[in-house]
Amino acid sequence: MATVGVQHHQIFIGGEWRDTAEAYEIVNPATEEIVATVAKGTVEDADDAVAAAKRAFESGGWSGLGGDERAAVMHRIAEGVSEHLDELIELEIAANGATVRQAGGFHIGLAAPHLTYFAEQAAKFEPQRGIDTAPYPTLSQNVIRREPIGVCAGILPWNFPLVLSLWKIGPALAAGNTVVIKTDEKTPLSTLAFARIAHEAGLPAGVLNVITGDGEDVGARLASHPDVGKVAFTGSTAVGREIMRLASQTVKKVSLELGGKGAAVVLEDAPIDTVADAALFGCCLYSGQMCESITRLIVPESIHDELVERIVARAKTIKLGDPADFDTDLGPVVSAEQHERILSYLQIARNEGVTVAVGGGVPEGDAFEKGFWIEPTVFTDVTNDMRIAREEIFGPVLCVIKYSGDPDEGVAIANDSIYGLSAAVWSDDYEQALEVAAKLQAGTVWVNDVHMVTPELPFGGYKQSGLGRELGPDALNEYTEVKHVHIDLSRKREARAYDMVLSDLD
Ligand code: NAD
Repeated sequence: MATVGVQHHQIFIGGEWRDTAEAYEIVNPATEEIVATVAKGTVEDADDAVAAAKRAFESGGWSGLGGDERAAVMHRIAEGVSEHLDELIELEIAANGATVRQAGGFHIGLAAPHLTYFAEQAAKFEPQRGIDTAPYPTLSQNVIRREPIGVCAGILPWNFPLVLSLWKIGPALAAGNTVVIKTDEKTPLSTLAFARIAHEAGLPAGVLNVITGDGEDVGARLASHPDVGKVAFTGSTAVGREIMRLASQTVKKVSLELGGKGAAVVLEDAPIDTVADAALFGCCLYSGQMCESITRLIVPESIHDELVERIVARAKTIKLGDPADFDTDLGPVVSAEQHERILSYLQIARNEGVTVAVGGGVPEGDAFEKGFWIEPTVFTDVTNDMRIAREEIFGPVLCVIKYSGDPDEGVAIANDSIYGLSAAVWSDDYEQALEVAAKLQAGTVWVNDVHMVTPELPFGGYKQSGLGRELGPDALNEYTEVKHVHIDLSRKREARAYDMVLSDLD
């Protein structure tokens, strides 16, 4: 695979590329080398991007197209993404530390199918529906219209910049909105490359604007801007609360995809070998930097020791190393800051009295002297009141929590969290597994599986994991206003409701 040179990237506003006074340095998390520089957007850039999106919306050049026409452009963009797969994968490896298999399978590989799904939704979009009416209080015909909101802003985290941007761009464009995306400071490259691909595929100028900038000023400006009708945010729960507060000033529509502390309840009859593999996949995929990771494994006493033994043996076979190498299972974590944060949690766990079953630190060897590496780590003797079981670590760290085997006790432990994004249940008895699934408080529950997120099905959180749902058949509802148009058919003054109220005035 070719090396990515140190290239400068600009931001994209109103169909044009723009430089700014300052720049971010993009660091390869595996080597700590600077792989690119990117123009650092300002509040003025955010204002310009919103103005460009507003002009594009009001021109009707996108919102005025039929769903089929919008779908055709979106399909062309998806084809463009597929044609540029290698370039996008290289960018994601260099800036995010995703391994080549993860980038191909998830970070980038999912982009075209997810966009294609939303193109299909655009084609099916029903902007209006007539309803035959009841005759009271007057005879009328009624129409329910679904209209685009206008300018929609998306604020992204660093972990899946392309796919998570498409979860916002896809439904917003399908419904006829225009969009301003603010990327995260660390990983803007693949989303900026996507803006170029979309432009080349014929998306009109101003319909999609991609800017960078710090969250506290540029992100905050988008969340409070009076001309932004909706803000969609993916990131930490702390910032999600702030977005909600900022958006409340103009009563914007808000959707939030926030943190998680996913739990898997293992029942006594669960297939131990499969659970061992799935537990590691659930907490280690992309070094655990996934909001829906399963980080708490709730295990019956009767199978605890045998299951832990298998997990530990399997964890020792996970190969860390150069993310661009096809044999590598696990890459680095994204930044020095995240590395420090995870290491501090590993210390907290020891202070809380857990047992380190495997891992627990930085791997040894020349290959790991540079870069931000964490070993796959499994802690046992964890109780659900410990900080490591309650707070999001966002690293390859699994907490094994023992319980009696009574499914209700397992469910109670799983639900004892401020989060509710994902959960899993493992059992050979589907009837019992489905009973447990119904009791788990999470937006997604996997039965005998993990990490299954597909564009056809809704994704989002209970409790402090979020607000609203991305993906699925209802995703466009988050990007539309509903309008009821009442058309009087009686043509009789005396039959109208106001006549009853105002007749005394005659
Ligand atoms: P973060 O909340 O620190 O940052 C996310 C984005 O918000 C960045 O673009 C940042 O610039 C911006 N931001 C920061 N402060 C802001 C402010 N005051 N106003 C407006 N914008 C602001 O999160 P992160 O560290 O980038 O991502 C990790 C977190 O995201 C984890 O907690 C993870 O669980 C969560 N996450 C959730 C999902 C999901 O779908 N639920 C997906 C991925 C990540």
